[in-house]
Amino acid sequence: MSKQLGSEPLGRFYYGKKTKKRREWRGIRDTLYDYVQWLGTWKILICFMVKPNNLRGFFRYRWMMNYLAVPDFFDRHTEGMRGVQLRMAHVGLGLIVSDVCDMISTIFKADPAIGNDKKLNDKIVLFDENMMSTLMGGFPNLRWLSVEVPAVYSSSMMNQEGVSYYIDRTHGYGVPTDVCPMPAAELGVALADDFPLIGKCAVQCNTTCDGSLMGNGIEATKFKIPTFQLAVPIRHRQESVQEYAKEEIVNAIHFIEEQTGETFDWTAYFESMNRFNMETEELLEWLEISKTDYPQMLGVSLALYRYGVYQAAGGRNQTFLDTDKKLTALAMKGYEEKQMVAVEHRHRCITWGVQAAYYTAFPIWLQNCWGIVPLLDMLSLVSTEMVNTEDKEQSLYDLAYLYENMIMRNRSNGGYETGVEALWRYCEMYRADMVIMYVHIGCKAMAGYHGLFEQEARKRGIHLIWVSHNLMCPQDGSRSDMRTEVNRYMRTVLREEPLDKTLEDVADENAW
Ligand code: SF4
Repeated sequence: MSKQLGSEPLGRFYYGKKTKKRREWRGIRDTLYDYVQWLGTWKILICFMVKPNNLRGFFRYRWMMNYLAVPDFFDRHTEGMRGVQLRMAHVGLGLIVSDVCDMISTIFKADPAIGNDKKLNDKIVLFDENMMSTLMGGFPNLRWLSVEVPAVYSSSMMNQEGVSYYIDRTHGYGVPTDVCPMPAAELGVALADDFPLIGKCAVQCNTTCDGSLMGNGIEATKFKIPTFQLAVPIRHRQESVQEYAKEEIVNAIHFIEEQTGETFDWTAYFESMNRFNMETEELLEWLEISKTDYPQMLGVSLALYRYGVYQAAGGRNQTFLDTDKKLTALAMKGYEEKQMVAVEHRHRCITWGVQAAYYTAFPIWLQNCWGIVPLLDMLSLVSTEMVNTEDKEQSLYDLAYLYENMIMRNRSNGGYETGVEALWRYCEMYRADMVIMYVHIGCKAMAGYHGLFEQEARKRGIHLIWVSHNLMCPQDGSRSDMRTEVNRYMRTVLREEPLDKTLEDVADENAW
C-alpha cells in the first residue's frame, strides 16, 4: 500500500455490499488528492439536492435514485490510478458530472410537474440522446437538452441495474426481449410516464437500428410536441449522398426556426465551431501521445469525456475547451515523466464495437488485472475532422458529415472500409497487438462482420478477444461474464498470469 502502482491488491475491495469499506490507499499525495475530490463530489451532490426543484424531482422520478451512486462511480473509474492518470480522470469526469447536474436542474426547472418555468420551456429544443448537439451553436438564445441522457444513458452508467425496471416495462408492453436495451429502456421510461415532458419542439435522428426507430416513434407520441426526424444517410462514405445529407441539416435548422421563432445565427455558429475544432485539436494531441510507449489520455477517461465533448457540449461551452487544455498539460507531464498507466504495459489494445454502459470501468480492469493498455476506443474516434468556419456552404457539408458519422453509426454503417478495414489501420498506427471486440448482443449493426474480423486478425497476428454484453442489461451478460472471456484467453491462449490475481475473479454483482 504505497504510491507505487499496483501496491494494493484491488480485488479485496469487492467483497461485501454496494459501497466499499474503506478508500484506496495511494500514498499520501494521491490519497489526499483523491479524498479532496471525493469531498468535492459530495459538495456537488449536496448543492444539487438543496434546490427545491431538484429535491422534488428526486422524489418524482425513479431514475434519479441512480445518482446516489455518483461517488462510487468515481471510485470505480479511478481504481488503482496514480499521478496524472488519477488527476485526468477526476478533471475530465468531474466536468461531465457537473454538466449532467446542470442539465438535470434545467430540466426540473422547466418541467410542468415541478418548476413549470414556461418561459424557459419555450426556449428548449429536445434532441434524442444519439443526436449531436452541434447545430445548436447557431441558436445561442435557445437551450439544447436531452431528457434521455440523464434518465437512461448516464443512469445506466451510475448503477449497473439502473434501467432494468424500464426494460421490464417495455417487455411487459409486448416488445420482444431481443430488442437493444437502450431503445427498450427509453421506451420503458416513456411508458412509465417518467420523462419530464418539456420542450418547445424535438429533433430525433434515424439511428441505425429498428429498435431505436421504434422507441423514438412511440416516445414522440408521449411528448406531444412537434418533432423532426433527421434522416441522415446511412452510406455516409458515398459522395452521392452528401448533397442530401446537407439538405437534411438545412431542413432541421428551418424546423427549429419555424417552431421557436429564432433565426440561425451564423456568427454564433462559426464561433461555436471554432471552439469545437480547437477541442478536436486537443484530442489529436492526446492521440499522438498514445502512439508512444507512454500513452496518457486513454481508456474510460478518454471515452466518457469525449462523448461529453462531441455529443453534448458541441463547441458551445468554453469550460470544455479549458478542461481540454488542462488535460493536454497533464498528459504532456505524464509523458515527459514517463508515467505508466499499469504496473506493466504488456499489451497495447484497441477496443472496438459498442461498450457496455453498465461496465464502463471495464478498461480500467484490463489495465490493473492484465496490463492490457486500452489506448483507443471506437467511439472516441467519432469526430476527428475539422469543420469549415468561413464558408457557409462548405460548413453545412462538414456539419452534415459530422452528423452522418455520429455515435452508433460511424463504424457500424458506411461499409467494410469504416467498420473493418479502419481497425487494422489504427492497430498499425498505435502499434496495438490486441483488440478487445465488444459484442453487444442486442445490436445487429456489427454482427455481419464477425467472420471477417476473425480472418483479418489471424492474418495480421493480432490477438482478438470477443467480449459479450447487452449494453444496459447486465442480466444477459454480467460484468463477471465479460471478465471471464478475457481471463480465459489470457490464460489458455497467451498463458499469462495476471498482474493482480485478486482482480481476476471478483464478486461485484451486488455493487452499484
Ligand atoms: S447499440 Fe445498436 S441496436 Fe442499440 S441503439 Fe445503438 S445501433 Fe441500435
